[in-house]
Amino acid sequence: MTKELDWNNLSFGYIPTDYNVRCRYTDGHWGEIEVSDSEYINMHMAATCLHYGQEVFEGLKAFRGKDGKIRIFRLDENARRIASSARGIKMQPITEELFREMVIKAVKLNERFIPPYGSGASLYIRPLELGMSAQIGVHPSTEYLFMVMVTPVGPYFKEGFKPTNICIMREFDRVAPKGTGRWKVGGNYAASLEAGEKAHELGYSAVLYLDPREKKYLDECGPANFFAIKDGVYITPESESILPSITNKSLIQLAQDMGLKVERRHITIDELEHIQEAAACGTAAVASPVAEIDDIDTGKKYVVSQDGNPGPVVTALYNKLRGIQLGEEPDVYGWNTIVE
Ligand SMILES: *Cc1c(COP(=O)(O)O)cnc(C)c1O
Repeated sequence: MTKELDWNNLSFGYIPTDYNVRCRYTDGHWGEIEVSDSEYINMHMAATCLHYGQEVFEGLKAFRGKDGKIRIFRLDENARRIASSARGIKMQPITEELFREMVIKAVKLNERFIPPYGSGASLYIRPLELGMSAQIGVHPSTEYLFMVMVTPVGPYFKEGFKPTNICIMREFDRVAPKGTGRWKVGGNYAASLEAGEKAHELGYSAVLYLDPREKKYLDECGPANFFAIKDGVYITPESESILPSITNKSLIQLAQDMGLKVERRHITIDELEHIQEAAACGTAAVASPVAEIDDIDTGKKYVVSQDGNPGPVVTALYNKLRGIQLGEEPDVYGWNTIVE
């Protein structure tokens, strides 16, 4: 037993835990689930994941609730999405049952790393699948490794739930039209690092990408989806290059329940003049409110938050979703998997 972790001061870094869970696909079928206490993978240097980017992943969280129970948020949605991502880059899809079993096992085995209720921290779950066959020719691997690792992470908003500035830069695209944007593949992240770093250097928290075909419509917001509140309507971009965020899907449901209209459609840059609130959404932050959107190329600044505070709708949605994850609010849609 290592020393107690300081739950209130965890960052979004990597903290080792006791175990990870692995399963290999060889000879046309998934094998037995293995429990490992090693942080390393032994693989062939010609594995397709290393050379040709055959890698897909997921990100979800487990929470210690108000009632002491452990909840995993929308496990089934992540199971479906990783299989869709795998099919997108010709990898063997993981069955939903296998995904479920391995995620639950990884959480249970590392139960002592689930932060206590009230700390604002959670257990981040990172399932990943790798193409493992030794190959130099460019074609899909015949062998795969699926593994689930977990690590405790601190609250996303350490200085409180505050809006940040984001920027539009036409110099970069995250993905190609009809490319890999709708799948959660590591390569998309590599492709976004340069734009992301440049935005950070300029003082922005993220890049609000434009659609890669016409550069007319809002697209993905860094590694998150974007939504805005405009005259009581929740608007979020429709695009074939956006990763379908499970957080966005959940917030859409909650927005409808609050009586908001929801529109998933093309959003032009000019429309940013007329919005009252905006946020980036994803598992890490739930919703990260936006203060200002600066168009680097035209110099135009779209001020979303006049007083530097998050707006009422984004705040209400954020609180509601967090409440469901922590067992403070009723889970009417059965989004949580309770780990017994
Ligand atoms: C993971 C991810 C998101 C957020 O998805 P969630 O399911 O809400 O965590 C959004 N955009 C990209 C590019 C992502 O990789």
